[in-house]
Amino acid sequence: MAVSQSFKTAGLLKELMAKYYEQGNLAREQGLPVVWVTAVSPVELVYAAGLFPYYPENFGALAAARKVADKISLAAEARGFFSDLCGYARCGLGDAYAKEHPVGKIVPPDLLFSCNTQCGSLQKWFETAARMYRAPYFLLDAPLIEAPTTRLIKNYFVEQLEEAINFFEVATRTPFNFDRLAEVLALANEACRLWNEILDMAALKPAPFGFFDACFHMAPIVTWRGTKEAVMYYRELKKELEDRLDKKIYAVPGERFKIYWDHIPVWPKLRWFSELFAEHGALVAVSQYTHSWAYQFDLDRPLESMAENYSEGFSNRCFEDRINLKTSFMKKYQVDGFVLFSNRSCKPTAFGLYDKRSIISERTGLPGIVFEADMSDLRYFSDEQVRDKFTVFFEQLAAK
Ligand code: SF4
Repeated sequence: MAVSQSFKTAGLLKELMAKYYEQGNLAREQGLPVVWVTAVSPVELVYAAGLFPYYPENFGALAAARKVADKISLAAEARGFFSDLCGYARCGLGDAYAKEHPVGKIVPPDLLFSCNTQCGSLQKWFETAARMYRAPYFLLDAPLIEAPTTRLIKNYFVEQLEEAINFFEVATRTPFNFDRLAEVLALANEACRLWNEILDMAALKPAPFGFFDACFHMAPIVTWRGTKEAVMYYRELKKELEDRLDKKIYAVPGERFKIYWDHIPVWPKLRWFSELFAEHGALVAVSQYTHSWAYQFDLDRPLESMAENYSEGFSNRCFEDRINLKTSFMKKYQVDGFVLFSNRSCKPTAFGLYDKRSIISERTGLPGIVFEADMSDLRYFSDEQVRDKFTVFFEQLAAK
């Protein structure tokens, strides 16, 4: 199976991403403040405030995909940052100290804005960066949700969104434009709708698209959610996939199995994994990771609806909710087995995976595997060990 570089839209994506990075480098010269943001935070406020959002996590993923994350991390580790930290944080911090910049230099922030729905690592990384760059930092705090979201949690979140708006007003010396926010939210709704329709095509048998393709095409939903470019991009991609379906071009020719993959891919091994699965006729069809951007905002109550969408991320939920979310995806996509990635970098998603495997197999009857590696750092990846583990898994699938 070829990963998505063979898609026509891949060229468009490269062009748009190059423009985005160029804009990041030019923003400060043009007097446009750069705001560091996190992947699961209300970037719609940043766009509505007319600021430039920059994603250091995206920088880490890019370095990982280009197989240089470990090299950049060494510069952070030499300054005393522990090698057990999230690989994205090590890359972001390392690049600030490094003499060489194999993926370009990380753009320094004028402001930092994060939400801890995802994890505590981002919060600490951004705190460190705020001190390093002497830039103001706003943290949106999302309490852990152990039951349906309460009114108290929503109010707490909404009040913080109001404070964040004030934070941007002070920085821009301009009153916040709620009409512009409505436009941005409408564009985000449309991009999320298209993105999730595209992801759902992986449920078709055989499917024209799978998780490894989604990992390539997800940059706009993370980075430009709330812009016309993201909507345009997913319209083009959807058209291309419909065309592929007409022409019977499938992600895995001779698809035999569908697989659920938990969370992030191993970025420097994306092609390696896609080829390994394709050799066995297996399509990784779904992951809760790429489904994280499934927001739908109510334009009549923007802040409350942002609070609902952003406080309920899967890594901010209790153990039972996380299992239910995974099994609901497995059911919807009718998978034949599942893979849980124990990601050394990402403690909040790696905890309890061996228990989760037993519970999920018991409830669904599906074979599952847990494997250990790091999403970005090849020092913690062994081709032989991982291949051996997966060989047993594929035998289990074939024997079903
Ligand atoms: S990979 Fe995990 S630890 Fe790192 S920023 Fe993402 S959620 Fe946080």
